[in-house]
Amino acid sequence: MIVLGIESSCDETAAALVRDDGTILSSVIYDQMDLHAAYGGVVPEIAARAHAERLDLVTEQALAEAGMTLGGISAISVTAGPGLIGGVVSGVMFAKGLSRGTGIPLIGVNHLAGHALTPRMTDGVAFPYLMLLVSGGHCQFLSVLGPDQFQRLGGTIDDAPGEAFDKTAKLLGLGYPGGPEVERAALTGDPRRFPLPRPLLDRPGCDMSFSGLKTALRRARDTLVAEQGGLTQADRADLCAAFQDATADVLTEKTRRAMAAFAAEHGPTTIAVAGGVAANRALRTALQDAAAEAGFAFTAPPLKLCTDNGAMIAWAGIERLRSGEAVDDLTLSARPRWPLDRDAAPLLGSGK
Ligand code: ATP
Ligand code: MG
Ligand code: FE
Repeated sequence: MIVLGIESSCDETAAALVRDDGTILSSVIYDQMDLHAAYGGVVPEIAARAHAERLDLVTEQALAEAGMTLGGISAISVTAGPGLIGGVVSGVMFAKGLSRGTGIPLIGVNHLAGHALTPRMTDGVAFPYLMLLVSGGHCQFLSVLGPDQFQRLGGTIDDAPGEAFDKTAKLLGLGYPGGPEVERAALTGDPRRFPLPRPLLDRPGCDMSFSGLKTALRRARDTLVAEQGGLTQADRADLCAAFQDATADVLTEKTRRAMAAFAAEHGPTTIAVAGGVAANRALRTALQDAAAEAGFAFTAPPLKLCTDNGAMIAWAGIERLRSGEAVDDLTLSARPRWPLDRDAAPLLGSGK
């Protein structure tokens, strides 16, 4: 069985062909970074237009790279939410048209399920496992119990860390996307020069907050600018190091708690990390150490599959087909919000 996956919920227009043994036959990602760089963040209207322009091209390219035609495809799996609604609508409409024109079954999947199920495609990780999803738009702990069974253990109550990295970079005049820029600058910085808070660590549970960190960083920057009239390279490096350290501390401590809560119910199994922020080396190392201490195996999908891509959407569709659940039809609708909770049924479904 080979499934076509289509993703357009944020700033990547992507299509991929995946076989049910987890083999990725092709994965084409057109990232729109250049279009949004000037604004320091994703502009929804620009994103939606760019998706609409590119969806057919990335799909054609995915087919060509796999040496296939639509005839060999068992299903079209498309992100039906959550995400920037204009982009999600573009993808859903495109997939519906393709399905209508060819008669190939349509599956609308939850974007977060795509991220959360990726370790099964890449590493064959068995249920149940713990997932930390940490990206530009999301930050949450999920117990992944089955292909359509997710339990949220906690998450951010305000900004996602990737967004905070991006805003930090913007605040310090670094490039976009901010994560890699901040990480690079932090390499030569002293994380202790600016003591930043560790929000919510004093409270029990797995919820996190990152907007206070950003405010503290802005204050530190403003003080420097007022005193010196600007920022030196060293100031920037120290601020980045302080921010990265605080973010990693919060995420790692909350991950310890999530592992304890998960292990109390299911025993220690595997913790998987996905999302663009999982690319951060300092964070990765800290999480790896914490996992080892807690007796969990650690896995992080390859970076290309950590950030938004079509392969994970194809895979979520494969999991859905395998579980024997019904496919969708042309009434499938795009959902800007779609929590991945156990109670939010149907989880991988159309969300009607
Ligand atoms: P979504 O949240 O819907 O999954 P997204 O596009 O916001 O989509 P991703 O594509 O998974 O998220 O990841 C992008 C985010 O990851 C950006 O905010 C970026 O700054 C951050 N990021 C990328 N590399 C790093 C890094 N090395 N360190 C920290 N953050 C990083
Ligand atoms: Mg992205
Ligand atoms: Fe994503």
